[in-house]
Amino acid sequence: MIPYGRQSIAETDIAAVMDVLRSDFLTQGPCVPQFEDALCTLSGARHAVAVNSATSALHIACLALGVQKGDMVWTSPITFVASANCALYCGASVDFVDIDPHTWTMCPNALRDKIAGYQREGRTLPKVIIPVHLSGQSADMKALHAITAPHGIRIIEDASHAIGACTAYGPVGNCALSDVTVFSFHPVKIITTGEGGAALTNDAETARRMELLRSHGITRDPEDMMQASDGSWYYEQIALGFNYRMTDIAAALGVAQLSHLNAFLDQRHAIAATYEAAFADSPVRLQRVPSTKTSARHLFVIRVDAAKHAQSFDTLRERGIGVNLHYIPVYRQPYFKALGIDGHSCPEAERYYAEAISLPIFPALTSADQNYVIDSVRAVLA
Ligand SMILES: *Cc1c(COP(=O)(O)O)cnc(C)c1O
Repeated sequence: MIPYGRQSIAETDIAAVMDVLRSDFLTQGPCVPQFEDALCTLSGARHAVAVNSATSALHIACLALGVQKGDMVWTSPITFVASANCALYCGASVDFVDIDPHTWTMCPNALRDKIAGYQREGRTLPKVIIPVHLSGQSADMKALHAITAPHGIRIIEDASHAIGACTAYGPVGNCALSDVTVFSFHPVKIITTGEGGAALTNDAETARRMELLRSHGITRDPEDMMQASDGSWYYEQIALGFNYRMTDIAAALGVAQLSHLNAFLDQRHAIAATYEAAFADSPVRLQRVPSTKTSARHLFVIRVDAAKHAQSFDTLRERGIGVNLHYIPVYRQPYFKALGIDGHSCPEAERYYAEAISLPIFPALTSADQNYVIDSVRAVLA
């Protein structure tokens, strides 16, 4: 089976991990800050907090922005469940803003309408919105920021797909139009640490809170302490935190993987360009990407006629192509339905779900395999 995505691990990556295994520090040691510094350099953000997953990063980002019981968080329905679960972890409620029909990311018009609708009904507006950079293409952050800023709504960018992507406002992760940006380093993503994630921000206080929450809410910094010190052994728990630390083993892999980022992106762009050329004169519809090389090209999603969707999906699988569907609208999940959240207001997400198929895209995909995928898609749609 040709998978839809997979990691690329070089001998130098393996050597970097082996070095850590022979060193004094296995969990958070010198490699974690080194990885965090590299993430700041790459993105232009002032602070990076590396953790054990993007899910953890989303959770501590919500907490650091003050999300709590009684609050509301809005995200895109076309995302992995973690983009919504992070709000539920904080005791907040979740609602969904429909996607744009062309870019498939959070639709600014739908956001404006939803805010107006909530205001008409006298409902409290969300504390935070979490736009998702689907397939590596940034949502329209300028529009989303302009709509939310007057209401004091904060923004967490779920850039799990989008390390290495850029916009007119610079690299994704620079938080130019958001409070926090989250990356994932799960093996199917652009670079990997096995499991891992990071939360980036330009705000020192938000970074400090996320660092505290990453490690049990414990501080050894006298400046943060609430009581007088009992002695040089003294530490204080000043918040309810978690063990969300990234290991040094993972961080070493992350640093090594970052050295391949540009090569990975070039390979992904080349694969995407080949697909785009191949499907240019076909009924297949593609995500609107403003210009070349802005997307990190984590996924390559095609949309086919809804009447042919399930059949095409199954036939491609039968042909040994590990197609996937990113994503089932989150409000369709039984857990969310049980919370009383429904998707009646997300017709574009419904249309997307009825048509989307993710094709294989990853740096090591061979042109022979890609041509086989292209021929197979053409055949099933003929
Ligand atoms: C992968 C993913 C996550 C979760 O990432 P983990 O590192 O596996 O926790 C969150 N949001 C989106 C959009 C993702 O694709």
